[in-house]
Amino acid sequence: MRIILLGAPGSGKGTQGEKMAAHYGIPKLSTGDALRAAVAAGTELGKKAKATMDAGKLVANELVYGIVEQRLAQPDAQKGFILDGFPRNIAQADVLEGMLSKLKAPSISKALHLHVEDEEIITRLHSRAIKEGRADDTEEVIRKRIAIYNADTSPLLDYYQKQGKLVTLEGKGGLEEIFARIIKAL
Ligand code: ADP
Repeated sequence: MRIILLGAPGSGKGTQGEKMAAHYGIPKLSTGDALRAAVAAGTELGKKAKATMDAGKLVANELVYGIVEQRLAQPDAQKGFILDGFPRNIAQADVLEGMLSKLKAPSISKALHLHVEDEEIITRLHSRAIKEGRADDTEEVIRKRIAIYNADTSPLLDYYQKQGKLVTLEGKGGLEEIFARIIKAL
């Protein structure tokens, strides 16, 4: 099972992705988490990514390719994986296909889209900002991230729809309720 999670920031991809990974016994890779870890560890990659991330913009494609390529080559990712936060634009989606064919791995099975209204997204990100204090969760940056999602990432819905891989689910409701919806749909 090779799954891509699509949805606006705050749509619940991270949380549902964790539950799916445990349920299916496959790893989940979040490029956002990996980049935040690189920033916290002060690596070269982290130094290059930090200012862009804090501004709510996408980091250069090349900075995330290495993270994804290395993770997908690990033994535990051979029977499947869940990608959260990658691909985030069409160029990345094309590169992902190239990585999989280089690894002689089957292509993506499904792109799971959690749909949540903009207003609900803003409310959720505000409360996450208070709880977790993420540097990129300020009001202005939240709006920027949503705008970038709409401009760069949402074209992927069409991209996977055309391949017959898109599954769109309503991302509003209780965590367990949404999780049950996902398992049923996949
Ligand atoms: P969100 O809460 O917006 O879903 P993530 O935790 O997935 O955010 O990612 C946080 C930040 O990390 C993004 O705003 C972006 O700067 C950077 N990032 C994560 N994944 C990618 C990617 N695939 N391409 C470019 N930048 C990325």
